[in-house]
Amino acid sequence: MLNRKIPEFIWINGKFVPYNESNIHVLTHSLHYAGAVFEGIRAYNGKVFKLEEHTERLLKSAEHMQLDIKYTAKEINDITYQLLEKNSIENAYIRPLIWRGAESVAIHTLDLSVNILIAAFESQAKFVSNLKLKLGKWRKPSPDSMPPQAKSSTHYGMAVAAQSMAQAQGYDDSLILDYEGFVAECNVANIFFGKGSRIVTPIADRFLNGITRQSVMLMAKKIGFEVKEARIHLEELADYDYCFLTGTAKEVGGIGTIDLERTVLNFPDPEEKVKLLQSEFAKMVGK
Ligand code: PMP
Repeated sequence: MLNRKIPEFIWINGKFVPYNESNIHVLTHSLHYAGAVFEGIRAYNGKVFKLEEHTERLLKSAEHMQLDIKYTAKEINDITYQLLEKNSIENAYIRPLIWRGAESVAIHTLDLSVNILIAAFESQAKFVSNLKLKLGKWRKPSPDSMPPQAKSSTHYGMAVAAQSMAQAQGYDDSLILDYEGFVAECNVANIFFGKGSRIVTPIADRFLNGITRQSVMLMAKKIGFEVKEARIHLEELADYDYCFLTGTAKEVGGIGTIDLERTVLNFPDPEEKVKLLQSEFAKMVGK
């Protein structure tokens, strides 16, 4: 059972379906072979933050995964607002998903339907601080093995396992390295390191280039931060004064500890610059 307030309707393949009737078959292809694509989006006081960008990424992800969806970006955007209205939700976490149906258990996709749903849950994020990270056991795959910008369930097996391992040991999240051992991101969020008014974040060509990440970079530049993208070695991390993550779910979250096993990094948190970025972020999204 869902651990949050149940929405009245989920939109599935063109219809608003009551929550309790919104089921799929156990032989659903995307459950067995992954390959579904999805988004995580937030609405603040009735306005969806960066909806066009999220829908564009959803459709691009579908293209990467060979999912031929018949809805246009405009239709998906309109339906998203209709769904919020139908469920009377103003502050929401929105989850569109495109997946292959249950018409066959074979790997090939010839007979398979392509389906789409959009769910919206009432949700209001609070800024978090002092997050505890543990170095992840597994690395991001090389971008040659899977398109990193596809937000596909195919990528999330590892993120879910890493999150589960981290939480079992009392951590909030993981620090994940890329296939060459450079710092990449957290399980489902991007990462930044800061010193004074300079912030640096890993180059997003080996993992998801978050929409929050891009928005925070622009926002930070506007308020006088120097923002850099770079390949970051683990050894450099001790030089930074503060650290935070960005993503739709946690927005801008302060990181207090990174356990690298051989050494543990501690960042002061709450930290003045992170707090400044959080309050600017709140203004930007209209929270
Ligand atoms: N990386 C991964 C792996 C993610 O799942 C997410 C969440 N979508 C992010 C980064 C942050 O992306 P965004 O800011 O677009 O939510």
